[in-house]
Amino acid sequence: MTSRLLTTLTLAFLFAPAVAAPPLVIAHRGASGYLPEHTLEAKALAHGMAADFLEQDVVLSKDNVPVVLHDIQIDAVTNAAARFPDRHRPDGRWYALDFTISELQQLSVTERRDPKTNRPAFPNRFPAGVGAFRIPTLDEELAFIAGLNHSTGRHTGIYVEIKQPAWHRKQGRDLSRAVLPILTKHGYQSKQDPCWLQCFEPDEVRRLRSDLAYQGRLVQLTGTSPAEAASLLSPDGLRSLASFADAIGPAIPSIISGSSPDDRKITSLVHDAHAAGLAVHPYTIRADSLPPTVRSLDDLHSLLFIDAKVDGLFTDFPDRTSAWLTSHPSPSN
Ligand code: CA
Repeated sequence: MTSRLLTTLTLAFLFAPAVAAPPLVIAHRGASGYLPEHTLEAKALAHGMAADFLEQDVVLSKDNVPVVLHDIQIDAVTNAAARFPDRHRPDGRWYALDFTISELQQLSVTERRDPKTNRPAFPNRFPAGVGAFRIPTLDEELAFIAGLNHSTGRHTGIYVEIKQPAWHRKQGRDLSRAVLPILTKHGYQSKQDPCWLQCFEPDEVRRLRSDLAYQGRLVQLTGTSPAEAASLLSPDGLRSLASFADAIGPAIPSIISGSSPDDRKITSLVHDAHAAGLAVHPYTIRADSLPPTVRSLDDLHSLLFIDAKVDGLFTDFPDRTSAWLTSHPSPSN
């Protein structure tokens, strides 16, 4: 082999897309379109639907146990207000951090609702108050997924989010330091392991890589504020992110801009992120809450996978995202 060919091959490898096709199906809070979010039942269903990764949002209990919950408050998805009526904070909300793991696991988990009006967030999803679901610890959930991988022969990965680390720090807690040993215990510590670790706070993502020396794959989540778009998601911002992160997790409107199907545009974000060496995993596909820029779920899948060329998607409906990919092989080619 000539040295020129070797150089060409090396360059081709270095500048290859950060994540090879096919795109990843990331089950957002489990198969949350069908069962209450972040219950082990929702994770089992998503695993059975052959999602590539199952998501865990993580907050701390009073006794510093990482638990799988989307919010720092627990009243939108549990019966905390009925079970512990006096244990709310002055803002009228019940917080996971004020309850021991033993207390949290006495609660019933239910489909997400507005804690003030009691109205379901998604009326056509699993009925509120039905079933006997409880809050899993992160340790329990990772053991559960390992068990499913063992019994099915699959290699479904995990996709863990550090929730509101700055808020935890103000309460005197270090969420990342509590989570990392659990990842290590379950064998998730390098970029070869099937794990992505995500966070919205850039200082924390940087800290995970530097101060905490985490060696696995890191994802910088981003919101929809114009200031963030101008800084983090600019070509310079993306190059800076790529010095410590492996992917970005942007909101769908950062990729499909506009206000209707008639004025929508694919932004340069995925192209710019790929040029910086970052994979792109936008959130969130919801069959029952589509963005105003798309005509249908198929349209949304097609825009993101074919037009924008994303590397994976957070989806509440992993079966439908997988089915779309199966019927449209190699969408990134
Ligand atoms: Ca999340």
